[in-house]
Amino acid sequence: MDINVMEILAVGGIVGGIGAVLGLILAISSQVFKVEVDPRFDQIVEALPGFNCGACGYPGCAGMADGLLEGEADVKQCTPGTELNYSQVRAILNGEDPDSVEVKEEKKAPAKADAKSKPKRKKPEIKDVTNPDPRFDKIVELLPGINCTTCGSPGCKAFADELIKGEQQLEKCRPLKAKGDNKDKIDDIMNK
Ligand code: SF4
Ligand code: SF4
Repeated sequence: MDINVMEILAVGGIVGGIGAVLGLILAISSQVFKVEVDPRFDQIVEALPGFNCGACGYPGCAGMADGLLEGEADVKQCTPGTELNYSQVRAILNGEDPDSVEVKEEKKAPAKADAKSKPKRKKPEIKDVTNPDPRFDKIVELLPGINCTTCGSPGCKAFADELIKGEQQLEKCRPLKAKGDNKDKIDDIMNK
């Protein structure tokens, strides 16, 4: 069987040409459909507490940041957030410097010299507490289980333990608001 060199070269040229056209189309598409990322997105994610607990109704802090930038979310939906978190997010949304925010209620919050030296909020160590009270396991199961420590207890198990001992208040677990009627269920268990 004779192989015509000219035919091979012609086929090669056609294939190469198609590749070049497809590459050009892809390059143009990537520019046309390029998704512009709002530069405030990363700042907002950084200013939120970072628990990724979902208490705001969004799948994590990044989802909440999206919701805030879309104007669909209110920063107060972040129930574990502090006044400092809220004020910083509001400042970012207003195009202001979040490090210039002063919050009266949180004077103890460390001053921020610059983004690199910004101290991270240190989470207390989580304690693997147990309690022989039959209500303990049920309450632990109904709590959010994210061990965010915003209640002041070193984790959800410690919170349940302190709740049973009368040393905690259920209202202190702010992420619980996002867990449907779990708060009522825990109230019922506690009142039995
Ligand atoms: S409630 Fe706050 S900490 Fe939890 S995921 Fe939403 S933004 Fe993040
Ligand atoms: S019990 Fe405390 S640690 Fe657990 S989710 Fe609630 S606030 Fe966070």
